[in-house]
Amino acid sequence: MVALRALIRSSTAAAAAPVPFGASKSSGSFKIRPAASLAGASSRDPSELYSDEESIEGVNWDKLGFSLTPTDYMYTMKCGKDETFERGGLAPFRNVGLSPASGVLNYGQGIFEGMKAQRRKDGRIVLFRPDLNAKRMQLGAERMCMPSPSAQQFIQAVKDTTLANKRWVPPFGKGSLYMRPMLLGSGAMLGVGPAPEYTYLIYASPVGNYYKEGSAPLKLYVEDELHRAYQGGTGAVKSITNYGPVLRAMTEAKKRGFSDVLYLDPVHKRNIEEVSASNIFVIKGDTVSTPATSGTILDGVTRRSVLEIARDIGYKVEERAIPVDELSDADEVFCTGTAVGVAPVGSITYKNNRIEYEARNPSVAGQLQAALVGIQTGLVVDKNGWTVKIEE
Ligand SMILES: *Cc1c(COP(=O)(O)O)cnc(C)c1O
Repeated sequence: MVALRALIRSSTAAAAAPVPFGASKSSGSFKIRPAASLAGASSRDPSELYSDEESIEGVNWDKLGFSLTPTDYMYTMKCGKDETFERGGLAPFRNVGLSPASGVLNYGQGIFEGMKAQRRKDGRIVLFRPDLNAKRMQLGAERMCMPSPSAQQFIQAVKDTTLANKRWVPPFGKGSLYMRPMLLGSGAMLGVGPAPEYTYLIYASPVGNYYKEGSAPLKLYVEDELHRAYQGGTGAVKSITNYGPVLRAMTEAKKRGFSDVLYLDPVHKRNIEEVSASNIFVIKGDTVSTPATSGTILDGVTRRSVLEIARDIGYKVEERAIPVDELSDADEVFCTGTAVGVAPVGSITYKNNRIEYEARNPSVAGQLQAALVGIQTGLVVDKNGWTVKIEE
């Protein structure tokens, strides 16, 4: 136990020293420590380091929001001109060193993923459909002209990072460990072009509710000036270039008391697309509808899972264009995403008109959220094999 505490302290101290992962190999690049040498100075068995008997002082699991709490370890794996990722491993969480001329800093060559590790009642930790995140990273990498780790490399690294930060996975029912895999053009160059080196990086942070409203219904604002994505663009992948451009609309909406922004299709400004980082669903009678993914919408893992669960429960499910006018006729609206789960919408404001949705009990959103979380936490039978246990 003492060894762990000492290690944590040393990892905090190391935070000041940047990891020069963008540096070329010849200039003395950062040596990635393989997982086996995680113990560092200590010669103890790594499983001892992973012990979660160690309490984490200062963390109130009941007060977790969606903010960064740095954890013990992060994962990095590099790939050079030969396009093969290798020699990945864990190292203490710390700042990264990048050349000012790196592709990601200059030309936005980067994508990310978001997933959660959850603790079940029996203490075991599970991931949810990590194969879909791995696949999505590969699709994104293709679109952004980057080589990507194999699905197996992607998933193994997420498992290793989760296990190394095991003590940060909140107790059952108190939240989850949010995992943030990234793929970055870390190599340096000057002219516009793909970077000469790439880094796959994963860090983790314990999280609770995404919105400060907690699980209270969201107040959405329909933005009809600024757009999130366009045909032929990168809206369908989790490119880092999709998020900077929506910050203004988001910030202005939040200043005016809204929770988030709902975007419209950029051509006709007629159909709803999605929210800044979540998908949108509309309920009418026994039909569950969501906009079809046609290149401008991110195909969320939660979106896909909720569609499958809804179909399974017996709802009629539709993926189609949804005119914004349909919102005034809906029985229920909700958002889905790894970070938000299934979040009910209480009101939508469009062109100075406010549509309000009465809280229903029971609600379709509540039913779907219960089924989804139930599968994730092991309270509902996972007949499709969506959850993946982290081996210890
Ligand atoms: C990540 C994200 C989502 C939700 O995807 P999940 O896989 O369900 O977390 C939806 N929309 C956007 C724009 C996103 O970035």
